[in-house]
Amino acid sequence: MEEIKKSDQEWREQLTDQQYHILREAGTERPFSGEYVDTEDDGMYVCAACGNRLFSSGTKFHSGSGWPSFWDVINEGNIELHTDSSQGMNRVEAVCAKCGGHLGHVFNDGPQDKTGMRYCINSAALEFEAQSSE
Ligand code: FE
Repeated sequence: MEEIKKSDQEWREQLTDQQYHILREAGTERPFSGEYVDTEDDGMYVCAACGNRLFSSGTKFHSGSGWPSFWDVINEGNIELHTDSSQGMNRVEAVCAKCGGHLGHVFNDGPQDKTGMRYCINSAALEFEAQSSE
């Protein structure tokens, strides 16, 4: 995948303060505060920073966590998983493979009849593109 490299200043100019905090500083939005927590429309979730395709609405589920949750990525390789031992926890961080933006974390308590994975993603790191009904 072709990577996008931008300076800190360029990201600050392109992103909102909240998007910058989450995507570039690995921040987390408050639970149940995000735009896409309850979204059920058909479409594609892409990276809010670079447009990289990340998740299909077909893999979104209601986890009760307060963040948009998916049980799979649209394409292996579009997201990189990194070990994250910050905040006194051992977690797996999900990062956009194209721009390096922080998206959220991955847990293994997802739906057992699917992959068993839960991609717990900040709404602010996503942009939803509704599927055309035509
Ligand atoms: Fe990205």
